[in-house]
Amino acid sequence: MDIKKSLYDNLESFFGFKSFKGDQEAIIKSILEKRDTFVIMPTGGGKSICYQLPAIMSEGTAIVVSPLIALMKNQVDQLRGYGGKDSIAHFLNSSLNKSEINKVKEDIRSGETKLLYVAPESLAKEENISFFKNVKISFVAVDEAHCISEWGHDFRPEYRRIRDVINELGDDIPIIALTATATPKVQSDIRKNLRMNNATVFKSSFNRENLFYEVRAKKDVEREIVRFIRNNAEKSGIIYCLSRKKVEEIAEILNLNGIKALPYHAGLEAKVRADTQDKFLMEEVHVIVATIAFGMGIDKPDVRFVIHHDIPKSLEGYYQETGRSGRDGGEGHCLAFYSEKDIDKLLKFMKDKPVSEKEIGTQILNEVIDYSESAVCRRKQILHYFGEYFDAKDCHNMCDNCRAEKEYFDAKEGLLSVLKFIREEGNRFDTEYMLDILMGEITQGNTAYKHDKHPLFGQGKNENISYWKALIRQAELYGFLEKNIDQYGLLVLTQKGDDFISSPKEMKFILNRELEGPTDPDKEDLKHTNEALDKNLLKMLKDLRKKVSKQKSLPPFVIFQDFSLQEMCTHYPITIEELTKIHGVGRGKAMRFGKPFINLIKEYVEENDIDRPDDFVIKSASGRSALKIYIIQNIDRKISLEDIADSKGLTYNEVLDEVESIVNSGTRLNLNYFVDEMVDQDYQDEVYDYFSAATTDSIETALDELGEDDYSYEDIQLMRIKFISEFGN
Ligand code: ADP
Ligand code: MG
Ligand code: ZN
Repeated sequence: MDIKKSLYDNLESFFGFKSFKGDQEAIIKSILEKRDTFVIMPTGGGKSICYQLPAIMSEGTAIVVSPLIALMKNQVDQLRGYGGKDSIAHFLNSSLNKSEINKVKEDIRSGETKLLYVAPESLAKEENISFFKNVKISFVAVDEAHCISEWGHDFRPEYRRIRDVINELGDDIPIIALTATATPKVQSDIRKNLRMNNATVFKSSFNRENLFYEVRAKKDVEREIVRFIRNNAEKSGIIYCLSRKKVEEIAEILNLNGIKALPYHAGLEAKVRADTQDKFLMEEVHVIVATIAFGMGIDKPDVRFVIHHDIPKSLEGYYQETGRSGRDGGEGHCLAFYSEKDIDKLLKFMKDKPVSEKEIGTQILNEVIDYSESAVCRRKQILHYFGEYFDAKDCHNMCDNCRAEKEYFDAKEGLLSVLKFIREEGNRFDTEYMLDILMGEITQGNTAYKHDKHPLFGQGKNENISYWKALIRQAELYGFLEKNIDQYGLLVLTQKGDDFISSPKEMKFILNRELEGPTDPDKEDLKHTNEALDKNLLKMLKDLRKKVSKQKSLPPFVIFQDFSLQEMCTHYPITIEELTKIHGVGRGKAMRFGKPFINLIKEYVEENDIDRPDDFVIKSASGRSALKIYIIQNIDRKISLEDIADSKGLTYNEVLDEVESIVNSGTRLNLNYFVDEMVDQDYQDEVYDYFSAATTDSIETALDELGEDDYSYEDIQLMRIKFISEFGN
């Protein structure tokens, strides 16, 4: 591989991606410049490329430390799937025999192997260390670096030896450590242990914008789950339960109802567990019912839903588990079932624990309760937990709370009383305590402080308790109060809270809402927008992918990822050249797997007499700006113009103008999905009739004729676009 080739060339030709995600480019540069690099990026953020790409561009072999054999095999398969020689990537672990090990070493010596995946145990083996000393090592990547920390959820003691081994290998071998764990404790453990205090740190936002978060009341939950899966047939998903017993039970119920599902928990034999993982990866089963033991070893990019049958014990866990869906940026529906009974059970479990553990455990659980009960944007709450401020309008309706009708209340006076109490009484009390004061509940605690005589005592009784819960929760979410979990969840007044006391403002908060119960069977399940246009073709391509996957014993997503297949259904590539223009398809992949796919598409296009709408993308990409192509593609996918605007950092009006110029230059666009959302049918008819008879296409004139009260400028412009597209083109 030519080292001088730019990063982008390699990204495009090897991985088939046109642009970097997030900090990828800066991270790769940092490692190419031989700096120690620490990457904190959520699951699905694209950490692998951060070491794979520089490895491919560097002289020698990069060592990648990875905790699980399944994970290594998976990544090696994926790298080989991209094309080139099989020797480009290898793994070294206890599953290899002597002659296989020799082959690996030979390929490394010859310089062909760019990435070597090793388990920490193999890395530390004396014979391997002496081998590594005599070959060129470009850098060491420590993936899933949280395994170093006892505070992380997957502690692996062998991970602690990594630094010593690297020191033996040579002097200037840079390290890149990568993790998706957001907690500061784990992060500082990693840095200490790998002794990388001068590392350049890249910390991304933990927002997973493509995941849809939803909490439903836990009623008739088994029927609900069956119904949900039926509505999402053929999609891969995971159902988490807290106990092994529940796992077995739910798996059985699903199978009885004709849904093929396998159980997974630590009580099963290792071989059974490994088989189950394989079947999931190979899509022989779509649904796994599991305890949290299932997940880390699985880098399946196209898990489409994660269901929590039981509410998890912490928001951190919830985030990690839901994070396993939608890694490829596509659909990921995260549905949790909540009941107070489950919470009581969890509290009971904690009863026998030592006091400090119990207290921290309860605080952590309180976060889950608040999360479930609050009607504030779920995404905002999750990110708040990780210390990020998030504006709910950026959620784009990707959670149930943002989609629900909201009921607001005036919070100014209530907020003021709460904040004042906390300021006067000195940041010493938690939410429970405040609620007792407001509701006038006498407790040992508040009599000891004589707070039962405080003027605020019982003053909140005219509202119900959920009102005050919502108020305190939002006081925290909006930064008037801070809650420190390590400090028993005491509420602490912030500067912003203090300022509010000095100059109070009108404040609208959101009332908690009743959680949705069982869905109405007639009600359609949520539609997701990124569905490909040509469903028939998509189905055929998926079947073909499955066949090829079987033949080659590779997971389907190693052949082509879902989003690539979807794009094929809007672009209809029929030559290898055209195929390489599809997102996620580089030259290697196109050569290796492309033939049967383009043949199928070609036949399909001929049989169905399809006008390939995107000739332009392939023949004259320069003739159209990338923006226009982007807009056309996303309109094909029925993405709302507002979302298109947001994703490109444009205003709605700017996108509207672009769309208009696309239509004016002769391209027909089907905008009905969006127009129907924006303009009532009656009004549509009226404007349509107007333009059919009008002598000018001026929007101002149209507004005069039709009345400015009923229409906005943008609505008319949108209708004009629809009109021109349908009649003019
Ligand atoms: P992580 O290890 O951070 O969870 P992965 O490295 O497994 O994430 O990548 C997640 C998904 O994102 C994969 O499906 C990968 O192909 C895709 N991906 C990574 N980088 C890009 C990119 N620059 N453009 C498009 N997709 C990408
Ligand atoms: Mg990863
Ligand atoms: Zn939201």
